[in-house]
Amino acid sequence: MNIIDIITKKKNKERLTEEEIKYVVENFVNGNIKDYQMSALLMAITINGMTDEETIYLTKYMMESGDRLDLSMFNNVVDKHSTGGVGDKTTLIIAPIVASLGCKVAKMSGRGLGITGGTIDKLESIPGFNINLTKEEFLDEINKIGMAITSQTEDIALADKKIYALRDVTGTTESIPLIASSIMSKKIASGSKNLVLDIKVGEGALIKNINDARKLANLMIKIGKAYNMNIVCLITNMDVPLGNNIGNSVEVLEAINILYYGLDSYLTRLCIELASHMVSLGLNIDYTIAKQRVIEAITNKKAYNKFLEFIKYQKGDITRLPKSSKIYEIKGDKGGYLTNLSSLEIAKLSGSLGASRQTKEDTIDYSAGIIINKKINDKVSIGDTILTLYTNKESIPNIDTNKLFTISSTPNSNFTLIYEIIKD
Ligand code: URA
Repeated sequence: MNIIDIITKKKNKERLTEEEIKYVVENFVNGNIKDYQMSALLMAITINGMTDEETIYLTKYMMESGDRLDLSMFNNVVDKHSTGGVGDKTTLIIAPIVASLGCKVAKMSGRGLGITGGTIDKLESIPGFNINLTKEEFLDEINKIGMAITSQTEDIALADKKIYALRDVTGTTESIPLIASSIMSKKIASGSKNLVLDIKVGEGALIKNINDARKLANLMIKIGKAYNMNIVCLITNMDVPLGNNIGNSVEVLEAINILYYGLDSYLTRLCIELASHMVSLGLNIDYTIAKQRVIEAITNKKAYNKFLEFIKYQKGDITRLPKSSKIYEIKGDKGGYLTNLSSLEIAKLSGSLGASRQTKEDTIDYSAGIIINKKINDKVSIGDTILTLYTNKESIPNIDTNKLFTISSTPNSNFTLIYEIIKD
């Protein structure tokens, strides 16, 4: 078997066998297959696709390329994964809700790169917070308080780390079989049999249209079935940022506010939906009952108290969240309704204030970010503050408000938060 024949086969739209896929993954991880050869194969896959069977084999060998977490000592384990978006702090809100209701949440999260934020960066903005738990500490915390969030170890789905790094720089990130195998190899290795997937669609997301999101959902459900997993996929809007705060410490603050005050917002509603599906899967109860319990856990502050317990356990201090030295207000120049907020432009602006990194080596200013002062379809007057920017930089870039938000004479009646829910 050799890699040139395998690349040629895929270039000619032929199916790869299980043995060929195993050969590719193993030999790429051990260095026998070079980056340029793997890049050619990834491009051929991106252009010509893979059958579901090929994708299941790719997932299997990627998953087997690294460590697997054994959670079989716990009952009611449930996991959640988002394909990534702007302002997505749902893990910080949902994990305590779900854990406060008796589920076990063992979450390995990543850092952000480019416009998408990462849960680990957000948690690291909390002074003292330990994001590097050992396996023993991680399991011990889940056992004692029902949840733990740690930085994803290098050893889970090793092949995915190497393949993802290449995809990032070779224009092959949008391939559906490659996305599905990347996510599912990590999720299977992370040990939960119950999984809720939040597939983000829109200009601020990897997936730009609902058809592709649907294909991805069905493919991930099929892969999960091969591993006896129960999966529910929500396809959700990422045209506008998720929530009002974009950055790191400001996002932690928004999560705290939602858990403490239970504010009604699109973000809260999405968290309630995701958490309800998780509780329904984790406790094997009806979705309607799960939803009632989720709402109660927010109202009676059980979820907020679980959040405090979790932060304390991982040695964080939320009373000392970092604050920026400079604040700028961006005002609207006409009256009407706020009908659109561009997640892409807002993410780019937040990055330029210091809140995200362009390369893995960049450092983040944890205090930097943006607070959106209005909600979609709020009535606004000339001179109202629409965005507040937080930074430690001496100056901010020139701002074209027309790119950031739209003010129209009538409200936007087309806004949809959850497009579809797909399950087996
Ligand atoms: N998230 C992943 O982990 N992998 C992808 O390919 C896309 C999103």
